[in-house]
Amino acid sequence: MGSKEKIQSKVIGVVGAGTMGSGIALAALYAGYPVILQDKFPEALQKAQDYVQAFLAKKDQAERIKFLRLVESLEELAGAQVIVEAAPEQLELKLELLRRLDELFPAPAILASNTSTLSVTALAAACKHPERVAGMHFFNPAPVLPLVEVVRAAQSGEETIEALVSLAEAMGKTAVVVQDRPGFIVNRVARPFYGEALRLLGEGAASHAQIDRIVEGGGFRMGPFRLMDLIGIDINAGAMRSMWEQTFREPRYRPHWLQMQKLAEGALGRKTGRGFYDYQEDKKGGDANQAPKPSGGRGNVIISEGSWAPGMADLCRQTGYEVAPVADGDAQPLACVIAAGREEEAARLAAWYDQSLPPDVPLLVQSADITLSELSAAVQSPERLVGFDGLFFAEGNAATLVAGPKLSEGVGARVESFVGTLGLEAEWVKESPALVLPRIVCQLVNEAAFAYLEGVADAETIDLAMRLGVNYPRGPLEWGKALGYGKVLAVLDHLYAEYHEERYRACTLLRRWARQAAG
Ligand code: NAD
Repeated sequence: MGSKEKIQSKVIGVVGAGTMGSGIALAALYAGYPVILQDKFPEALQKAQDYVQAFLAKKDQAERIKFLRLVESLEELAGAQVIVEAAPEQLELKLELLRRLDELFPAPAILASNTSTLSVTALAAACKHPERVAGMHFFNPAPVLPLVEVVRAAQSGEETIEALVSLAEAMGKTAVVVQDRPGFIVNRVARPFYGEALRLLGEGAASHAQIDRIVEGGGFRMGPFRLMDLIGIDINAGAMRSMWEQTFREPRYRPHWLQMQKLAEGALGRKTGRGFYDYQEDKKGGDANQAPKPSGGRGNVIISEGSWAPGMADLCRQTGYEVAPVADGDAQPLACVIAAGREEEAARLAAWYDQSLPPDVPLLVQSADITLSELSAAVQSPERLVGFDGLFFAEGNAATLVAGPKLSEGVGARVESFVGTLGLEAEWVKESPALVLPRIVCQLVNEAAFAYLEGVADAETIDLAMRLGVNYPRGPLEWGKALGYGKVLAVLDHLYAEYHEERYRACTLLRRWARQAAG
């Protein structure tokens, strides 16, 4: 952010003094720009001024408030070289505003829209000089979050894009240039984070708090339900619906009945005191994962052939266990892990270990791309079958576990205590295709691959935008590569086979990358 003394020569105009407009005005002021903030409601201007003043005072920059001018008419934006529109997300309203701004302020003034999901090309088309129109999409809270998507409408001139990139950088932001497609990068690629979580909850696979704990345990800053509550379930559902409609009902963006029910109930998240969590009782919105400290253990763990439990052998060794692919003479193993991919291979190994190990040794079967219950028939002691997330087991601090249909209490308790010694919190979920993290993360990788295929931006830009815009622990494309495209594809094909829905069709690029990786 800007130094105290630096006053920029450009004047920034902002239309709409709500959440985003006041945040953008503040970010510009803080970077040293004089700002004219317009809203047709005086109460909104007053609220914005109070917010800006409080923030500046906290940062010891109270004197900057003199560079903020509050106005009620568009005409009073005269003198601004860049005008960022941050009015409500309604196409007709934004078209009218752009039309008026175009009439009032001739080129070279630049007109930008902060729209999250509307077509910037359509907004530019309302102007006589559309080459000076582009998107400038900030994230909430705008003074804090480091990313700005500069959206290139079909008509945007190169000078306009360059000027907005420079402005974003002067405001201390990282700017990514993105093509004008529904949801741009961040709002588009993030869709499955919410959509798959809603489906898991809607199908009763796990509770919202469990899904959040598993996702946060896997490295995401905030689980999908806590985040929807923070954003506002209405805002999030609105973005989902807008993308679904603009893409002629692409099934990946289909809104979910649970969101509609929350809207009908008026439970919109933190702002109404209740969403998925109840904030009247619990300020934080549910407990975060309370993973135990790894206590380690002694004994043997069998890990079968196969690459579907990456990191598990290391984790076991680090916590004191001996690891081998077969039982060591008379020492009874604590658990036997089936790390194979594909059902036939997992069934073959489960049957073999089932015959060679005493019946109370738990058989932990990776279930990211296979259906655990189908394996029941392959073993003589199905009461020892437990599924687990074999893609992310060793990555986070939560272990997603699934009880086989005949699991005995004793085996369940033994598995729970075993994962506890590894420092993992056991989260028992119901059997559901691809469980929780593999389903969400692989659909994120898939969405990012579609965005790349469709030319929204290059791979590095997509990854950077997801890390900075929504704080993901890794960019989805580099994450897919690290997991192995073959595994991501196996998870997606498993989801497709189980649901027979177009929503889970894998992007053709992933298939190509998986083939290339297999050589
Ligand atoms: P908001 O409702 O908080 O603010 C909108 C403001 O516009 C209000 O103060 C309202 O009084 C004012 N307004 C309404 N009609 C107007 C008019 N004709 N002329 C001038 N001002 C008018 O909305 P918001 O959350 O700040 O969203 C604004 C835009 O930013 C939307 O396009 C939204 O999609 C986008 N956006 C929002 C977020 C977010 O998290 N809230 C994030 C990124 C982008």
